[in-house]
Amino acid sequence: MNDFDNAMKKIADVLYGAARKSGEILDNTKKAYNISSEKDKIAKVQSQIGLKVYKAYVAGNATPDYVQPEIEAIKAIEERIQELERSMAESKSCKICKECGARIALDDVYCPKCGGKQPETTASCCEPPAGEEDSGCCEEAKSEERSEPTQRADADCSDDDDDF
Ligand SMILES: [Zn+2]
Repeated sequence: MNDFDNAMKKIADVLYGAARKSGEILDNTKKAYNISSEKDKIAKVQSQIGLKVYKAYVAGNATPDYVQPEIEAIKAIEERIQELERSMAESKSCKICKECGARIALDDVYCPKCGGKQPETTASCCEPPAGEEDSGCCEEAKSEERSEPTQRADADCSDDDDDF
């Protein structure tokens, strides 16, 4: 074997090695992906087990002591959610329908009374904190609603008012 052949063989070895290596890398990426998708499946089944245990607890069945901390954690989270939902319902404010003047919920897109489409508004966008200039992001809504405050403390948005 002469020098040239030796050199060519070395190059060929390097190239072959690199190709094989990149093949292995690809292969391992695939395997890692498979492993993580298998682990996802385990996590899903585990959460199904957890859900069954929690449902058993809610239904009043005996649950093992070792899951009490998790059950307490879920109860605390559920209480927070309920509190947030309550406070959302309480702060749900009213606006006046621009078509018929009915008092409707702030997030109504269409008036439940007359069906009139309401200008798009979001409370956070159209109501700058007191003393601050309106950012002007809701020009249309602003001019529509200037005359009537959109936030009402009584939050009486019920549709069954007959006085409109
Ligand atoms: Zn209306």
